[in-house]
Amino acid sequence: MELNLEETYYQAILAKDSAYEGTFITAVKTTGIFCRPTCRARKPKRENVTFFKNTKDAILSGYRPCKVCNPLERLDETPEFIKTLLNELAADPSIKFKDWDLRQRGIQPSQIRRWFLKNHGMTFQAYQRAFRINSAFKKIQQGEPVTSVAFDSGFESLSGFGDSFKAIFGSSPRNSKHSAIIDLTRLETPLGTMFACATAEGICLLEFSDRKMLETELKAIAKYLNATILQGENRHFDSLRTQLTEYFEGKRTDFSLQIHPLGTDFQQAVWTALQEIPYGTTSTYRRQAARLNRTEAVRAVGNANGMNRISILIPCHRVVGTDGSLTGYGGGLWRKKWLLEHEQKHLTTK
Ligand SMILES: [Zn+2]
Repeated sequence: MELNLEETYYQAILAKDSAYEGTFITAVKTTGIFCRPTCRARKPKRENVTFFKNTKDAILSGYRPCKVCNPLERLDETPEFIKTLLNELAADPSIKFKDWDLRQRGIQPSQIRRWFLKNHGMTFQAYQRAFRINSAFKKIQQGEPVTSVAFDSGFESLSGFGDSFKAIFGSSPRNSKHSAIIDLTRLETPLGTMFACATAEGICLLEFSDRKMLETELKAIAKYLNATILQGENRHFDSLRTQLTEYFEGKRTDFSLQIHPLGTDFQQAVWTALQEIPYGTTSTYRRQAARLNRTEAVRAVGNANGMNRISILIPCHRVVGTDGSLTGYGGGLWRKKWLLEHEQKHLTTK
């Protein structure tokens, strides 16, 4: 956003100018909270404020809604039952409202899905996921290990994490001082916010923050290395930031980064083969299976492809259907399309 516009917005929030309602969202870096322009809460310093076009962008960049001005509500047009759900979530980010829970309350899941899509550009389920991740990230920024935060944020109900956690760390998540550390950071890209994880050996995760599987993936790498995930710096993050920026500017066609993929021997072989697909080109599961001399294992190759947790660096986006169709992508098909077009464009200008 250009500086002049930001200054105008900042003056508007100082004046609580209601003419700006609905035109922008204020977010405060120090608290991780976003507000409407007219929020009554104490005004943050200019250098701590950033602005977004809409609530969706603020949520996907890791911010949580303010409890004072309730920026998720549309003035005078938020149904009472949605206000109630939002308040309950704000009070306890670990609550998960599934379709069944909504129906128990006499709410049609499609009703709330439509309202969220119309007003915030995302489904209620996607909002809940982002809210859990954002709440958890804020806590670990304040020094709590992800693995204990995971409990508080409702992660444990996915795939019996509670039991596996106990098996690895003992009964108390807080007594995990002896385990290894995986560093976690968040970075902004032209395709949205991403999370990266790294060990001393290299980058072990790079995913878009709205990916459905993100929670499961974080747990999987913690379990794999018997490690605790903490927000922190790692020497591999510096080169990752630099090289990703160059990639998105079309100035870099391959990466020279240390990566630390975590998986079975077969998965590792599949991921290595993915890295042999040249920039700007595509392959198919069938061709990847042939590359591994495993022509019978097309489906298994596809599955291992889907298990890749290091997006872009291990370019699983370069695999398409035999007929050229895009097929699935964890980060969303629109991103896969964007990445392939981006690479093609910069390949031809080389
Ligand atoms: Zn507010």
